[in-house]
Amino acid sequence: MKSGNASTGIRRWPLSAKLLILSSLVTILGFSAVCGSVMLDMRRGEEALARQTAENLATSIDSDIGRTVEQYDLSLRAVISGINTPEIDKLSKEMRQLILFDNAASARQFASIQVFDAHGDLIIDAASLDPAKQSSADEEFFKVHKFDGERGLYVSKPMLHRGAYSVVLSRRITDIDGNFAGVVAGAIRFAYFHDLFGRLRLNKDDNITVIRRDGVVIMRTPFDLDVVGRDLSKTPGVMRALSRSNGSYSGVGVVDQIERLYVWRDSGRPLLVIVGRPWAGIYSLWYQQAIKIGGIMLALIIFITAVTLFLAREIGRRAHAEHKLEELATTDGLTGLRNRRKFDAAMELEWRRAIRHSRPMALLLIDADHFKVFNDSFGHQSGDTALIAIANCIAGAAKRAGDCAARYGGEEFAVLLPGATVQDAYEVAETIRRRVEQVPADPAMLTVSIGVASVKPLVTMEWTGLVEAADKALYAAKAAGRNQCVIAGDAHQAIAA
Ligand code: GH3
Ligand code: MG
Ligand code: MG
Repeated sequence: MKSGNASTGIRRWPLSAKLLILSSLVTILGFSAVCGSVMLDMRRGEEALARQTAENLATSIDSDIGRTVEQYDLSLRAVISGINTPEIDKLSKEMRQLILFDNAASARQFASIQVFDAHGDLIIDAASLDPAKQSSADEEFFKVHKFDGERGLYVSKPMLHRGAYSVVLSRRITDIDGNFAGVVAGAIRFAYFHDLFGRLRLNKDDNITVIRRDGVVIMRTPFDLDVVGRDLSKTPGVMRALSRSNGSYSGVGVVDQIERLYVWRDSGRPLLVIVGRPWAGIYSLWYQQAIKIGGIMLALIIFITAVTLFLAREIGRRAHAEHKLEELATTDGLTGLRNRRKFDAAMELEWRRAIRHSRPMALLLIDADHFKVFNDSFGHQSGDTALIAIANCIAGAAKRAGDCAARYGGEEFAVLLPGATVQDAYEVAETIRRRVEQVPADPAMLTVSIGVASVKPLVTMEWTGLVEAADKALYAAKAAGRNQCVIAGDAHQAIAA
């Protein structure tokens, strides 16, 4: 029985156990939903913070570079306006140098400004009063200004300029007639960018890329000579960055294939800044928290599930024990049929039900014939065995739902047949009688007499009347010679009387 209960599974658990499981399930789902929602919010928060930090970083780098380029450009413009002053040729070299390069940036990150004539020959150098012969006729920046009068400030690709990697900034010199008169050029050395990026505290795998408006990489940190100078204008992310003033995209790094959030700022200056932060870094704190909270949640879920299953099983066991106890209290110990108490309760219940549904109800009263003699002849033990055999015959014949076979007392039995007409009841009675007759009970023959009564009960009737009618029929069967079934003369009248 125990194993039967254990293997019954959830379907046969009592309602209280099912409710317990359901409430635990709802609790777990609720907890998980709240936790999941909080975790998602945290994740969104981390992303928003990373985006904001990257934007701020891009803005400050962009403004630093922008300011530097502007200052340098101012110096170039000052040189051009000085050169276009007619009196400049009349001055001594020292005075000319002082006037032209008064504002020129002189930090080590900047190369000295040089002036080239229309043929590309160096004519003035901020670093020297007597510069050595030098030609820039073949340089890209010179050709750009020579053939394009509208260029304004030109920022070159990164190049080796006077012994150091630099970005050359140049402007065209135009004479009073509007003709090409040369180029003024200077350079921002990579040292400037190294200094700028060196002041920042970047996380692992963060990167910053400074690109020219045509997509050429001017500078990058971490520094990589393979990437610097490369044209990234065909890269989808860079294409977006070039088309909008600011924004962000998620993409894979061109060098290390790491998934990053890229944020850019473009304030309309010649260079724009893209800051990249790896998603793994952005979410690293969140991952740790998610693992911690997820672990606690999992432990909690396991605990709740285990406790719930344990309690549900206990409830199931208890219900099963109660059921067994109730069965024991309503079962006859010898025959296994219902006992008298249960029979009376069933009678009461079925009687009212039969009244409600206007259905007939039949009763069989069965009594073992000459049982005293049987006992006296074969002993009480054999008598008990015979009673069990009779009970089996009765149980085998009254099997419909609602039928109630009970030991009425001593060697008497009663069978309640709800819904059975007198004819149905008589058939059942005959079946029982014949089966008992066939029970091998050597040397004596075991027989029963059966009183059959059936009635369609009315509200005014009592069920005891049905019992009396069946009892009378039983007496009649005894009187008529036993081993037979007798139908109560008129049960209806007998009860009503
Ligand atoms: P009748 O055919 O008129 O019914 O005769 P009878 O001997 O069966 O009737 P009676 O009521 O005089 O005797 C009933 C006997 O049933 C008396 C008793 O010894 C026996 N009996 C009652 N309960 C038990 C029981 O639990 N076990 C055994 N072995 N015998 C029982
Ligand atoms: Mg008797
Ligand atoms: Mg008897």
